[in-house]
Amino acid sequence: MNKRPKGKGYIRALLLVLAIYFSYKWVNKLLHSPAFEKNPPVIKLKDTLYWNSDTPLEIEIKDDTGLKSVKAYLSDGEHEVEVNLKDFKPKTKDFIAKIEFPKIGLNKKIGLLKLTIKATDISKWNFGTGNSATAKSILKIDDQKPDLFPLISSYGITKGGAALAIFRAKDKNLKDLYIETNFGKKFYPTPFYKPGYYAVLVAWPVTQRRFSAKIVAVDKAGNISRSRLSFFLKNKKYRTSTINVKDSFINGKISDLSEDRPEKTKNLTPAQKLDFINSTYRKENNALIRKVTSRVDHNLLTNFKIQPFYPLKNGKVVGSFADHRFYKYKGKIISEAYHLGLDLASTRMADILITNPGVVVFANYNGIYGNNLIVYHGLGLYSLYGHCSNILVKKGEIVKAWQIGAKSGATGLALGDHLHFSILIQGIFVRPAEWMDSKWIHSNITDVIENAKKLIDK
Ligand SMILES: [Zn+2]
Repeated sequence: MNKRPKGKGYIRALLLVLAIYFSYKWVNKLLHSPAFEKNPPVIKLKDTLYWNSDTPLEIEIKDDTGLKSVKAYLSDGEHEVEVNLKDFKPKTKDFIAKIEFPKIGLNKKIGLLKLTIKATDISKWNFGTGNSATAKSILKIDDQKPDLFPLISSYGITKGGAALAIFRAKDKNLKDLYIETNFGKKFYPTPFYKPGYYAVLVAWPVTQRRFSAKIVAVDKAGNISRSRLSFFLKNKKYRTSTINVKDSFINGKISDLSEDRPEKTKNLTPAQKLDFINSTYRKENNALIRKVTSRVDHNLLTNFKIQPFYPLKNGKVVGSFADHRFYKYKGKIISEAYHLGLDLASTRMADILITNPGVVVFANYNGIYGNNLIVYHGLGLYSLYGHCSNILVKKGEIVKAWQIGAKSGATGLALGDHLHFSILIQGIFVRPAEWMDSKWIHSNITDVIENAKKLIDK
């Protein structure tokens, strides 16, 4: 027998250890490579879905490395049908499966379907079969459009003014209900009197040449109904005026207000300063007002009684609503703005009366409006009081009819002591004159409410 040299055995053992070590490293690396990843696909599917069975249902399926296959099955409890998924390309990382109702094999009348989606990725994990995921959902079939029916409304709407509409909207799965307008603004209705009925105040902004409005109802299955609200449209011309700006005005009020935004006004000329306050700052102040006055309540409204606003006893009109004001300085027009309220003046620090009950939604300083009080009266209707010397109520406080809410003053962009009075509907400034006129309120609001109740009770 040959006796092996001792050294060779050691080398063999060492080589073996190295071979095992490197094979282990290699297999380990391979198993941790993307080709062997262990994350199953993610199927974004809710437990329950509403489906009108008309528009394809879109389900997103994602996978880190790529999808190998996606299968979808619909079942009505008796039969199961595989859905043909068009546009699927293997290896895609993000796939939108479009589920269409199969032409044959399922009974739509049952109203409930079970959807099963199975997805597998291209990973070599699981001995090459990949990672799989399954998701299931109950589909509630709803192919009924919401029922919409305009019941009654104000006869007309004036440019810059408001109108009331009452309608019926019914759907077992109602999701969205709003009034769509030609100027992009949506008005939201309030449930009115009995289930399925709604009331909404709409407004024609003074800056819009035309007005049109449609009720839009959308259900959870995506069925949409639209119905036009018809009003007799009354155009109205508002005045334009030119204001000659004096240096004393710029050095006084405009300089004071510029202090609110020192970083933006410090390098401006007097004319630019005036335009900044009158345009940019006014927009900022109006945006805050819009935010505060856009909300509308969704609790059932059983009644809506409004009496004519009379905010200032013996108040004389010193500035009109929607006056398009041009500001002239040293012979040149340097700025313009719409005056979106009514200016009333009586004595200094006069009582400001909140004619109708409501809740205080804003009682604070607001730039050109100075000390600014805003009260909500329901159905999206707000009253606003600007330039107050003193506000006597707090945010959140409930005010009674004829309560004194503030004292008139000259804070903000005001020259003498006066009240700037505005009415807003869901963030849109409207003609205060309508809401100060008992005849207008009677025929456009009170009568409409009373007649709607009679129609609903019939
Ligand atoms: Zn004013």
